[in-house]
Amino acid sequence: MSLTISREIRLVSRPTGIPSADNFALASTTLEPLEDQQVLVRNLYMSVDPYMRGRMNDRKSYVPPFELGKALDGAAVGEVVESRATGFKPGDAVSSTRGWREYFISSPKGLYPVSRDNQPLSVYLGALGMTGMTAWAGLNLVEVKQGDVIYISGAAGAVGNVAGQLGKFRGCRVIGSAGSTEKVKFLEECGFDAAFNYKSGPVLEQLQAAAPDGIDVYFDNVGGESLEAALSALRVHGRIIACGSISGYNDEKPGPGPTNLHNMITKRLTMKGLIVSDWLGQRAEFEKEVGGYFKTGRLINKETVVSGIEHAVEAFIGLFRGENVGKMVVKLGS
Ligand code: NDP
Repeated sequence: MSLTISREIRLVSRPTGIPSADNFALASTTLEPLEDQQVLVRNLYMSVDPYMRGRMNDRKSYVPPFELGKALDGAAVGEVVESRATGFKPGDAVSSTRGWREYFISSPKGLYPVSRDNQPLSVYLGALGMTGMTAWAGLNLVEVKQGDVIYISGAAGAVGNVAGQLGKFRGCRVIGSAGSTEKVKFLEECGFDAAFNYKSGPVLEQLQAAAPDGIDVYFDNVGGESLEAALSALRVHGRIIACGSISGYNDEKPGPGPTNLHNMITKRLTMKGLIVSDWLGQRAEFEKEVGGYFKTGRLINKETVVSGIEHAVEAFIGLFRGENVGKMVVKLGS
């Protein structure tokens, strides 16, 4: 039997500031024949995500740093090519955390079966995957309810657009900000009540114009100026979902925090940190609710698709240049 050769992306140096192509290398590796209870998977799509930037630093966090000289990892969806494990057969679709490579060998424990009824399968990296679940978990974390006015930054990205759509389904008034006119248009297509380009004027001014009576909830994907604006716009007892702060991910030295944090006190605000993996126990509930919206065509699953593992690094770096509308995914197979 012929051996499988797989191409993979390795981290070869730790980035300073925005990552560049020379921090990575495309390499080939030969996979061993399968042992008992092993499965060979060919990845069809892999995810690139902003959190991966943090793992490229040599710093301990809630997930360990990537090792130099080794393949990166992250969410992927693929199909079983060969199986010596019960419960898996060739053609089965599976999701895993073994992205950044074309093929891999796994034990059944590392594979999560997904249905081919939902197409394209990349939806399991976006609306029905980690980023969709982040949006859903964030809204649940601060109990977003009918009538809330919610502001979402990074709104045209993977987490943001799903959070906005789910907010609308819950009967909220939803405001979003994003970095281009094209993205603002997309937010309107998603049903946002108001949307603005944060690059075309001060965030606070634009937010106040969109929500003259203030906001109840802020879904923070960005930090920085957007967080500061939200602190000013929040009403008494407002809530903040602390989901991400991409505006600072490439800073060598963290900048100072918001200058108006005193609003936390005067307005008795609540800010809750979110790590989506804490919610994995509620995966079935998420899949039922959000999967239902997707199946009936109510939920838009917008993607930016880059093809070929040799372009995966560009796709990743593109996240920090705002090159994606919706979920950024890399297509590896056909
Ligand atoms: P996105 O799909 O939103 O992609 C990143 C987007 O961020 C870009 O398209 C760009 O959009 C925006 N961006 C990039 N640089 C900046 C900047 N300097 N200032 C403002 N915006 C910027 O990514 P995700 O939806 O996957 O992630 C969104 C956030 O959620 C991230 O902060 C991420 O780390 C976080 N996250 C947190 C999780 C958790 O468990 N807490 C889980 C998943 C994600 P634009 O053109 O609008 O600037």
